Amino acid sequence: MSLEIAVIPCLRDNYAFLLHDRATGATAVVDTPEVGPINAALEARGWHLTHILNTHHHPDHVGGNRMLCDTHGCQIIGPASDAHRIPGLHEGVGEGDAVMLGQIQAVVWDTPAHTSGHISYYFAEASALFVGDTLFAVGCGRLFEGTALQMWSAMHRYRSLPDHTRVYCAHEYTASNIRFARSIDPSNEALARRAQEVEQLRAADQFTVPTTIAQEKATNPFMRADDPMLAAAVQRSGASPADVLGEIRRRKDRF
Ligand SMILES: [Zn+2]
Repeated sequence: MSLEIAVIPCLRDNYAFLLHDRATGATAVVDTPEVGPINAALEARGWHLTHILNTHHHPDHVGGNRMLCDTHGCQIIGPASDAHRIPGLHEGVGEGDAVMLGQIQAVVWDTPAHTSGHISYYFAEASALFVGDTLFAVGCGRLFEGTALQMWSAMHRYRSLPDHTRVYCAHEYTASNIRFARSIDPSNEALARRAQEVEQLRAADQFTVPTTIAQEKATNPFMRADDPMLAAAVQRSGASPADVLGEIRRRKDRF
């Protein structure tokens, strides 16, 4: 597999991701929170930016689109259903569309919930999934423009991917997400182990992203909203997974 991926910290707690196809030199950035660190990372590696892949319209994901496009002349790809909110968009994509980065293919999934037009990019051959602000390590995005049922559909679908799939989420929220998760899932041993790992990583100033589908299945309360233990923990025994997820999200919003 010739896809190389670099994690680029931006702003206060955002990540952009550089994707480089070694075979053709094609290079994409997933979201554009901040131009300076993205350009510095490209320069350090000698990579030439050919594509921007946007996940959703929030300014900390599209803010660098126009400036990067002006500098590099790259192609901007993003959600067709949100075309009017993606600065400089050249190609709108949606559910099932293929996006080619050189010789490497990503498939687009519609994953609305955090925003109405949010999409994810799944690189099956590279076992890499780019989820923007839909899924976070041990958490999920706020429901600004969508419903708990839409978020549950996204979680359920992500969960169907192979365990070793690496998940690239767009913020470093893991430590605070774990504090909340432990408040409703205190006897989860995988979560306790992960809390220790994350504490060590953060103390060493290291990233906790990417995560994996296996880790999220074991520790993420939003991905486990169909677990009767979690439903009971939030006083929603017998409710649908979407209702349980909605209640967990409300509690997280207040946490
Ligand atoms: Zn967002």
